[in-house]
Amino acid sequence: MNGMNSGRVVFIGAGPGSADLITLRGARRLAEADVVLFDALTDPALRELAPHALWVDVGKRGFCHATGQAAIDALLVRHARAHRSVVRLKGGDPSVFGRLEEELQALATAGIECEVVPGVTAAIAAAAYTKRPLTRRGAGRSVSLTTVMTQQGRLQAGRHADTEVFYMAGRQLGLLGRALRQAGWPEDTPVCVVSRAGWPDAVASDHALHELAAAAVLHAGRPTVVTVGAGGRALLRPSAHPGLAAAQAGHGVPAP
Ligand code: SAH
Repeated sequence: MNGMNSGRVVFIGAGPGSADLITLRGARRLAEADVVLFDALTDPALRELAPHALWVDVGKRGFCHATGQAAIDALLVRHARAHRSVVRLKGGDPSVFGRLEEELQALATAGIECEVVPGVTAAIAAAAYTKRPLTRRGAGRSVSLTTVMTQQGRLQAGRHADTEVFYMAGRQLGLLGRALRQAGWPEDTPVCVVSRAGWPDAVASDHALHELAAAAVLHAGRPTVVTVGAGGRALLRPSAHPGLAAAQAGHGVPAP
């Protein structure tokens, strides 16, 4: 009974955007899948890598849980008992705000074998898109990845690292700015907001902390990360560069 004849479950990080951001290992495991349980933020083009698999949408978006977590856990166990290879495809990296713990726990309890394949998390894709290293020699020794929402649904943000990247903050940028100032970040702290990092239609914008609310319109309705502090600062450019004035004035980051 206890998982003896079960298949295995492979958690794969799809990356935060276009299908080609998945790792080679992820693509290979995906190609071997009989069933794929996928999230809302994964690129539909990934289907081409496993055209014969059964694709099951278990997408959850923001706070409206389209499929409850317990139902996803149960679905994973059920499919693993019925198939040889089940893939759990998650946006970005599975171990970053991906409910990986619950799902691993459910499978371990059921005695089902698992593997985790890493992916590019949104913070990393945003750094690549804006060409802003998350660590800076001398000024940025630490990076933290933080969700702004507590389990009780309250917004909470502090000052724990030289570079802080906030997830799930897109709808509350004004509140985030206020919380960060209260946590001791100076008014003129550089903040870079990036939505749909890794996709062709990614958008990035620069803001000083006290005017972060202004970013809301630009990124409305799009998955967004907010990079605060050392890693949010643009590189110095030659002053003749036309992009410099715009970036300093808080408008868009010049296209990379
Ligand atoms: N496991 C994912 C994060 C899932 S939580 C990862 O590693 O990236 C969902 C949150 O991730 C969104 O609210 C948003 O803050 C962020 N996010 C996901 N995809 C994104 C993207 N392409 N660009 C910017 N932020 C993104």
